[in-house]
Amino acid sequence: MTKTVKCPQCGKTVQWVPESKYRPFCSERCKLIDFGAWAKEEHSIPGEPAFDDLMSQELDDTPTRH
Ligand SMILES: [Zn+2]
Repeated sequence: MTKTVKCPQCGKTVQWVPESKYRPFCSERCKLIDFGAWAKEEHSIPGEPAFDDLMSQELDDTPTRH
């Protein structure tokens, strides 16, 4: 009996076998999407929303500055 898991990204059933090299994701794409989301979360420091607000505000105030 093969163990199966659900892809955390799209919910597709993935067989937990060595052949499923992106497990628990169903594909490389889903794996990359999840990694991207993780990296994004890592970028913003939890508990310091003020920092994030400052950043976006600064971007809004200087839209043409490069
Ligand atoms: Zn998937």
